[in-house]
Amino acid sequence: MAQRMIFTNATLYDGENDRQEGMSILVEGDRIVAVGRDIPAGADDRQIDLGGKCVMPGMTAGHWHGDYGGLRLAEVGKAYLGTQSPPAYLAAVAIENLGYALGSGITNAVGAGCSFDVDAALKMAMNDGRISGPRLRAGGLHINTTASENEPTSWWLPAPEREDGLQVVGAELFADGVDGMRKAIRHQLRRGVEVIKTFPSGGHGIDVDPTLRAFTREELATIVNTAHDRGAVVRGHAITKKSILESIELGMDIIDHGDEIDEEVIEAMVKAGTFYVPSMLFLRKLMPTGVMELARAAQLAPVKRSFEHMCKVMPLVAKAGVKVVPGDDFGLEFMMHGLGNYAEELEIYVDDCGIAAKEVLTWATRNGGLMMGRSDLGMVRAGYVADLVVVNGDPGKDISLLRNTDNLEMIVKDGKVHKDTLTAPARGQSVSARELAPA
Ligand SMILES: [Zn+2]
Repeated sequence: MAQRMIFTNATLYDGENDRQEGMSILVEGDRIVAVGRDIPAGADDRQIDLGGKCVMPGMTAGHWHGDYGGLRLAEVGKAYLGTQSPPAYLAAVAIENLGYALGSGITNAVGAGCSFDVDAALKMAMNDGRISGPRLRAGGLHINTTASENEPTSWWLPAPEREDGLQVVGAELFADGVDGMRKAIRHQLRRGVEVIKTFPSGGHGIDVDPTLRAFTREELATIVNTAHDRGAVVRGHAITKKSILESIELGMDIIDHGDEIDEEVIEAMVKAGTFYVPSMLFLRKLMPTGVMELARAAQLAPVKRSFEHMCKVMPLVAKAGVKVVPGDDFGLEFMMHGLGNYAEELEIYVDDCGIAAKEVLTWATRNGGLMMGRSDLGMVRAGYVADLVVVNGDPGKDISLLRNTDNLEMIVKDGKVHKDTLTAPARGQSVSARELAPA
């Protein structure tokens, strides 16, 4: 039997409740088996006295593009996304990024689109213990219609048409009509995709004509129903209010960005149980006060409009209990994947939107676990998977602590220690390398 681990004298954020002091957490194998104040340690248990340090569940990256390794905004749209490097190179980028995420305390990631089959293939490699990273709910190709916004400007170099009528290139898949959509989704399911990504409307920091449609209603409904028939979920890049409401009505599981969210949308989300990924870091970075000041003159107005509107609406989103999960387009040139970088988004919800840090922690942990489609992830509770992060300081009071991974003194995933500078400061990460090595 595997040695049990017992953390004692912990200040606990369990993913839902306020901080609780003097707690113990007992881990056996990959599970948390007990959480409470008086848990007797066995003689053979590995006992870790946290001396009052905080423990929280592992976090979820709710919008994961593993193969983005510094995409330049000016280049996006010139060629098909995902054709900028050969497939094996993109997989190498994704392996590197999975390491950054896990090292940032992220133990789950929900795919938001990747080239080729990067998510599904790397998930296999992680399950076999060849590489380490967050548990993945695998994304896949963007599902588009012909001539929609993910077509590059170089129309004279079209994606090759396959015999089945689908066009597949890099990160994109183009199909048309109800039959085409059914075929497109099943093509993705065959290749291990668990989260279908589609684009009910254009926009997100750029102006979009709300009267245009990327899909017919029937096409969108077919995407959702075909995925649901086989247990997959669907996420939609939906910016206009009309497209968000229609997507929710058709049963879409996750709304990405959702710039035009308002009280009517919030009510629909709560009623349908829709997950919401606001991804406000992208907009924040493009604001005139953003670090990069990248917004070109033509883009400044829609960026500012969206960001300021969302800052006002997010407290209502929080109050209504919408299932928000953080996550954004990390891997763009001005918001790279990297240790601690993911927490920059969390700060926006606290600093710009005025949400309590503890609530944002719940979004990143409990809500993230739910977005993985399981009921045993994202909380520190008996019966849950042992994904734990020990933080030096109180992230429920100061969420910016998560930006500096030196503050993450232990990272445990599936009951295995990935990082430990708390009990083994000299050896640090070398401990994890040994413990994670395949048997
Ligand atoms: Zn994205």
